[in-house]
Amino acid sequence: MQIGKAMGIPIRLHWTFLVVILYIAWAFATFSEPLFGRIYGFGGIEPASVRWIYSLAFAVILFICVALHELGHSYIARKSGIEIRSITLYFFGGVASMEEIPRNPRLELRMAFAGPAISGVLGVLCVLLSQPAAIIQDNHPLAIMLWTLGIMNLLLMAFNLLPAFPMDGGRLLRAWFATRMPYVKATQSAAEVGRMFAILFGILGLFSFNFIMLFVAFFVYIGASEEEKATAISISLEGIKVKNIMSSDVHTVPGSMTLRSLQDLMFREKHRGYPVVEDGALQGIVTLADLQKIADEKRDSVEVGAVMTRKLYLIGPEQEASAAMKMMNETGVRRLPVMDAGRLVGIVSREDLVRAIELSSGRNF
Ligand SMILES: [Zn+2]
Repeated sequence: MQIGKAMGIPIRLHWTFLVVILYIAWAFATFSEPLFGRIYGFGGIEPASVRWIYSLAFAVILFICVALHELGHSYIARKSGIEIRSITLYFFGGVASMEEIPRNPRLELRMAFAGPAISGVLGVLCVLLSQPAAIIQDNHPLAIMLWTLGIMNLLLMAFNLLPAFPMDGGRLLRAWFATRMPYVKATQSAAEVGRMFAILFGILGLFSFNFIMLFVAFFVYIGASEEEKATAISISLEGIKVKNIMSSDVHTVPGSMTLRSLQDLMFREKHRGYPVVEDGALQGIVTLADLQKIADEKRDSVEVGAVMTRKLYLIGPEQEASAAMKMMNETGVRRLPVMDAGRLVGIVSREDLVRAIELSSGRNF
């Protein structure tokens, strides 16, 4: 769900987000504690209507702060020529979707640092502003609001600086390692540190019955392995172009072909999908999954054109294989038609990519 644009980047909300906004509003409306001599949380504000208005406003502003954190990363990325497709806000924070995370340690350092820096500045600003607000009236709702926002932004900064993937701190650590060793090695070392933190959190969480900490431990542990895998894959695909791995001997089918004939063709050629071409123009793609949606007795009368997927994700022969990989991961499609100057020149499938990865890295994933 898109809610708006900032710096020309679409900002999207994940549905979990709405639940979390309400949860955060509830959580902060039902507690209030002194922290460094100042009231933190809205539980003490009377009447209840005012308390809830502040709490809800707080939850919304907090997520604007999360969006600003992501925009901090995006700003540096954009300045270095990296395209940012969108920013999605999830329940645990935000994710900026960008074309390719640079394998340039200095740039990665600056990019990873920008987000926590924004959170830190926002945090300090809110804490400072809460002072004059408290002078107007001690424990004025506005003072509580600013103080609570300040603390949360500082926590957000600290949490993101944890030296573990997928947090910014993990990227900072990797970038720092990468200035003195090869990138894969740096990723492995950073992932190792992340796993150590995960185990530490896990133990602390178990002993203190802190479920949030256990959740973070799990999240960080998975994050370490994911990052290692993703880096290994993108490095083994380095320098490989789509044209090097695509099948250029493309068999196409016409939209007027019956599903029965398609079924026979698939059986004979052992292909699971075909581009559908009419008068030399690509119309869609038909796969085994499309075929299986139609009951067997109807396959003599239904034509390919009626069941094919018309929404196409296309790629060019000169593009990087890793771009094809990314496109498949983002869209969930398993094969991409390769187009050159409006002409279908090949097809690249997930199997082609897996084979390329295995061949160039010499091991299995
Ligand atoms: Zn961040």
